[in-house]
Amino acid sequence: MSKKDSLSRFLFEKNAVRGEIVNVTETYQSMLENHHYPEPVQCLLGDLLVATSLLTATLKFEGDITVQLQGDGPVRLVVINGNNNQQMRGVARVGEEDVKAGSTLKEMIGNGFMVITVTPKKGERYQGIVALDGETIEACIDNYFKQSEQLPTQVFIRSGMQAGKAAAAGMLLQVLPATEEHSVEQTAEHFELLTQLTHTIKAEELFTLDTKEILHRLYHEEDVTLYEPQRVEFRCTCSRERCEDTLVTLSEEDVNHLLQEQGNIDMECEYCGTHYIFNEDDVKNINKLDKSELH
Ligand SMILES: [Zn+2]
Repeated sequence: MSKKDSLSRFLFEKNAVRGEIVNVTETYQSMLENHHYPEPVQCLLGDLLVATSLLTATLKFEGDITVQLQGDGPVRLVVINGNNNQQMRGVARVGEEDVKAGSTLKEMIGNGFMVITVTPKKGERYQGIVALDGETIEACIDNYFKQSEQLPTQVFIRSGMQAGKAAAAGMLLQVLPATEEHSVEQTAEHFELLTQLTHTIKAEELFTLDTKEILHRLYHEEDVTLYEPQRVEFRCTCSRERCEDTLVTLSEEDVNHLLQEQGNIDMECEYCGTHYIFNEDDVKNINKLDKSELH
């Protein structure tokens, strides 16, 4: 479990601009365990994790969120699953083709889309789709906000290595709805200034400094209110029960074939690497349960 990862919201009271700052380094490291991704794919996962965390915090919902990149390039799929409690997991599927060092988003995903799916506990599921025509995840998320919200929003995403270990963090700025106190023009001007200031943050600073230090470093002339942080953590939703649900969908022939070939059925979670082993007796019991439920 992560000890350090957290997301904090902050507010520029006088300027009608809100912000978020997140560090997901430990969650990211857990996500990379048991995987050997090419370096650019690793960074892509980090970027998408940061983006998902920031995005989740701007949406008012209780439930699950999935952000995925899919296209016709050598990286078939990159997906982050999370929820409103900032519990995240993610995986990338890379095809046969090599992913060269220094590959861009476009070179990895090819012609593709970013699909954002929100499944609230109550109410309807909704989906947003953005063409991947930005150079970076940062640009694609900015496009998403332009498409879906009227409020100007800007994200800042950094992922890479820090002291030999994978690290990922980011920030978000968003204009608040106009009020009598704050004219649209005034707010736009402030937003522009704050965006320029935030652009000066270095990856290393985001990875290593604590939230207060970063806010001071960037906005020491501004009046910033910082709220209580929310924890971010790696959490996989796989379980033996879910594997059983998959097993009963397989034909008896396939199951018997697997049992004969390997002695048991070993199902590995592609997100966290947990193995779920089923022997012949386990399979018989699942089938019995399943059939009794049908009657
Ligand atoms: Zn798992």
